[in-house]
Amino acid sequence: MSSMKVRFAPSPTGPFHIGGARSALFNWLLARKEGGSFILRIEDTDLARSTRESEENIKASLQWLGMNWDEGIDVGGDNGPYRQTERLSIYKEVTDRLLAEDKAYECFCTNDELEAVREEQKNRGETPKYNGRCSHLTEAEKEKFRAEGRTPTIRLRVPLNKTYAFDDMVRGHVSFESNGVGDFVIVKSDGIPVYNFAVVVDDHTMDITHVIRAEEHLSNTPRQMAIYEALGWDTPVFGHISLILGKDYKKMSKRHGATSVEQYKDLGYLPEALVNFLALLGWAPEGEEEFFTQDELIKAFSMDRVAKNPAVFDIDKLNHINFHYMKALSDEELLQLCLPHLQEVGLAKETLNEDDKARLTLLCTTFRDHLSFGAQIKDHVRFLLEDTVTLEKEAAEELKQVLQEETVAIVLDTFKTKLTELDELTPDTVKATIKAVMKETELKGKSVFMPIRVALTGQMHGPDLNNIVTLLGVQAAVSRLDNYTDLLK
Ligand code: GLU
Repeated sequence: MSSMKVRFAPSPTGPFHIGGARSALFNWLLARKEGGSFILRIEDTDLARSTRESEENIKASLQWLGMNWDEGIDVGGDNGPYRQTERLSIYKEVTDRLLAEDKAYECFCTNDELEAVREEQKNRGETPKYNGRCSHLTEAEKEKFRAEGRTPTIRLRVPLNKTYAFDDMVRGHVSFESNGVGDFVIVKSDGIPVYNFAVVVDDHTMDITHVIRAEEHLSNTPRQMAIYEALGWDTPVFGHISLILGKDYKKMSKRHGATSVEQYKDLGYLPEALVNFLALLGWAPEGEEEFFTQDELIKAFSMDRVAKNPAVFDIDKLNHINFHYMKALSDEELLQLCLPHLQEVGLAKETLNEDDKARLTLLCTTFRDHLSFGAQIKDHVRFLLEDTVTLEKEAAEELKQVLQEETVAIVLDTFKTKLTELDELTPDTVKATIKAVMKETELKGKSVFMPIRVALTGQMHGPDLNNIVTLLGVQAAVSRLDNYTDLLK
């Protein structure tokens, strides 16, 4: 193993967002490519919003996507624990050191006092920052505050007139002036460290060499650099990856459709397709190829081909990629992908016998070429769910014309009679029956297929007619053939 160590450090505050999955993936790909290690750390210091349920969702989603971690939550390692709320004693030790070295200090200001100062600064047209009121308190002053019942926060002393500069793997040279930062809180009055502090302590004590994370953390980086500096620690290499935007160039949100990994899983997307798609959200491969297996991604991935500009989430592209991976599914796998959706509309029971399986497999394979993801099967099964046929609205006139041909009555009647005489209904026997209808009526192709299809489905086009008839079954087919004139009303 190389000494490269990267980490994914999600806050477990909700379902695992695809943006988080993309950050995890870039870290994971880099670690796998460089022979380094990938750590999973849970940043749960936001006590009000963090839940175990969300943590489980993140872990299950990472596993589903095939991103295993070498060190971290559940699997352990030399630098644990890997959940921040279990590391409070570690942060306390570092805080004590900063206090002892006078690099941090206790601040007794209340929220109302801080708010009042911020208001004054704003009124003067200044950018609000801490005014340093508690930066040089005497022991007696501190005692007085304590006696008033105030519990202090801990603030870092941020030096003035400093430039925090670094070379970001994605954004190039970045610099911030320390004067805008002000002494900021690193530990809240309840003893819980803030994100910027805990992340530095963890990244350092876990020997993280490269920090790849979302662009929204770029402005946190100077604060983190101030903490590294106060502690005399080296900073890791940073890489801030761009936002994911919807097609309207607005930040990806629920408005744009599914946003969590679990939602895509539930919709019947394949993990290898989602990984392939996420990799292309911000990373550009060298050639024209758009399909990459996980191994191919590991080989091809490099941070220097990660773009600075925002990535646009294009659902059509995801569908295109998923369609590609679905082609490799066996009939059985295709059924498993569609099954929950067939159950949802009542076409499949909880447990399937062999006959159910055969019928549902036929159903799924019939529409295979029309499916970009599993849930789309629901768009195609209406003909099985409704007792009567309705003509497809946009083509109603054309469809009526088909049924008004003078040979229609004889075609449908002959077909119906032959159907009821069949011993077994399969696509092959249906095919033979249609052939027999042609022979008997002395009509060819279209004049036979078309009226049968329209009478049974209300549509001009669709997948294999032999399969459609088989899926409908004799009874439903006969009833539709009997009632086709209703469609002309
Ligand atoms: N817990 C932070 C988040 O979920 C991690 C940021 C980082 O990687 O430093 O956004």
